Amino acid sequence: MKKLNLFVTLSLLLSVFFVACEEQEEVIPTLQEVPVDVLKKLESSGFNVTDWIPIKFEDGYIVEGDIFLSYKDIMSSDQPDDGITVTSKQYSTDNLVSTNGNRTITVFVSSRFNSATSAGVDLAIQRYNDENLEINFQRVNSSNGADIRITRLNFFLEFFGVLGSAGFPTNAGDPFNQISLNGRLSRLGFDTGGIATIVSHEMGHCIGFRHTDFFDRSISCGGATSNEGDGGVGANQIPGTPSGASLADGSWMLACSDGGDRPFNNDDKTALDFLY
Ligand SMILES: [Zn+2]
Repeated sequence: MKKLNLFVTLSLLLSVFFVACEEQEEVIPTLQEVPVDVLKKLESSGFNVTDWIPIKFEDGYIVEGDIFLSYKDIMSSDQPDDGITVTSKQYSTDNLVSTNGNRTITVFVSSRFNSATSAGVDLAIQRYNDENLEINFQRVNSSNGADIRITRLNFFLEFFGVLGSAGFPTNAGDPFNQISLNGRLSRLGFDTGGIATIVSHEMGHCIGFRHTDFFDRSISCGGATSNEGDGGVGANQIPGTPSGASLADGSWMLACSDGGDRPFNNDDKTALDFLY
């Protein structure tokens, strides 16, 4: 698995084959379920729906590999891509988590994950907490009232090669409340650091981080130059972060995983510190 992009593409071919063989059984979601109005809306908001086909998931869609948007959010978005041409720095969404100076975000992890994934979550939490931000994360044993619930993707999406998915903070200043995670990460070859990277990446979305290379996903994903656009959620440059994302810098918010470990680099720390 050199590049997630490739992995998803291969899995897509497999999935299409799989679905074709199982035509009689209707439980498996298929790519054809994405209605044209959703595709058009996503496209007009600046999302790339050609290289990254949206995948139906719960009450919305996973777009561009790992960003979850509810149907309501997609259809109520009225901010077209405003032709952002910047090619540097890190980015946040318009909505951020309100902290009032200090906020603990509780995280519940479903018991359907193995111990390797659980350890990866702990490491991801530790990485954030080590930064002494205005937000800190704390694992809790009950899903009741947890700010973020980490649950497993369904079988189809795990098979499809989606590693994880999360959305962005709410208008009310709360983190996105769910991370859907592939329960087979260790079997896919991710070690604790690799799993922590996936989890902290999705946590990053939950608190308002967009992809470091959102202006050109080809930096981490390969393939053609591809700008994610404003997406209707905002893409605000974070002051103090330098020009030019590069794969070598290994930001934890690069769009595509290479399967390896990406602890916070200095620019990531600057960006975290600025927002929180
Ligand atoms: Zn992402």
